[in-house]
Amino acid sequence: MPDEARRAFLTVGVAGAAAAIVRGTDSPSPSGGALTPSPRGDAEDARAVELPGFVDLQVNGFAGVDFADPAITPERVLHAVSAIERTGVTRFLPTLVTSSLEDFSVCAKTLVHAAHPAIAGLHMEGPYISPEDGPRGAHARDLVRAADVDDFRRRQDAAEGRIRLVTLAPESPGALRLVEHLVGGGVRVAIGHTAASGSQIADAVRAGATLSTHLGNGCAQVLARHPNVIWEQLGEDRLLASFIVDGHHLPPATVKAMIRAKTPARSILVTDAIAAAGMPPGTYTLGKQRVALDATGRVAAPGAPNLAGSALRMNVGVGNTVRFTGLALEDVAPMASTRPAEYLGIRTAGTVVAEWDPASFALRVLRVGA
Ligand SMILES: [Zn+2]
Repeated sequence: MPDEARRAFLTVGVAGAAAAIVRGTDSPSPSGGALTPSPRGDAEDARAVELPGFVDLQVNGFAGVDFADPAITPERVLHAVSAIERTGVTRFLPTLVTSSLEDFSVCAKTLVHAAHPAIAGLHMEGPYISPEDGPRGAHARDLVRAADVDDFRRRQDAAEGRIRLVTLAPESPGALRLVEHLVGGGVRVAIGHTAASGSQIADAVRAGATLSTHLGNGCAQVLARHPNVIWEQLGEDRLLASFIVDGHHLPPATVKAMIRAKTPARSILVTDAIAAAGMPPGTYTLGKQRVALDATGRVAAPGAPNLAGSALRMNVGVGNTVRFTGLALEDVAPMASTRPAEYLGIRTAGTVVAEWDPASFALRVLRVGA
């Protein structure tokens, strides 16, 4: 194929601008040179793409750094941020799973004081979740507690007001009152790690919950075929849903069916990455527990049936989603950028210049621009 075609660009509007998608054959290469020629030389050649910076609502750690480690330092946070940015993520919510008030406060303060512009606030996942095995996932059972406005206030004070998203279980005692309190203060509320009934989910939505956290995970291993906690959220149009598309959390057909049901406009990609992301197989920590990353990219506590976060990089999650759903890159990329930004009420930052190979579904980040 001609050089001009190989340099074809896909430009997606940034920061909530109209979704104008411009394909051109005469755009200059952002890296100042031709891309690596494809050995196939057919219409499926890799091409350069320029996308809005990715926004990740759920990042527990990265590159050997565990955000839930009370010994974490601002320097370690900044080390993780630069590794995260190399995957195209330019804004994200460090996520703290169920933890004691003391540990939460220490970690939240360090993350806030790192003061990096990529940190768009904090995501507090738990402790107001289901205590049951299954829906609780890898969260520590002894630290799960009932939803409580005063407990949240103490955590939000420690975080200097930077908690922007809370994932909770609607059936947690006190949840509805807390949802109303959070929404009144501009904090987004997500449903997750739950065994809620349909009416409990409906009540949470009426109170202001607007997102399902990693839908299809954080629930019982075995469910009634219907109704169940997945269908009730999948069918609720007032809930957006986040998905972990690493090939381990959800099978390909499930990703395809769920995103079709929820629609791309209500779907958000998250990594749920932990310290093992961007690292070789081995043992890492997620808060107080040890977790192992195996050679297939699966992260779990040794001997436990449930996954414990992921080693996913967002650029890989975007490629996987194209592969699993059959959607075009330009329909999937907003799920990792403008859509989560709009959900949080922020703007995307910068651009991701990448090489997209539609034959292998590989999205290789070449450069992250200002
Ligand atoms: Zn979770």
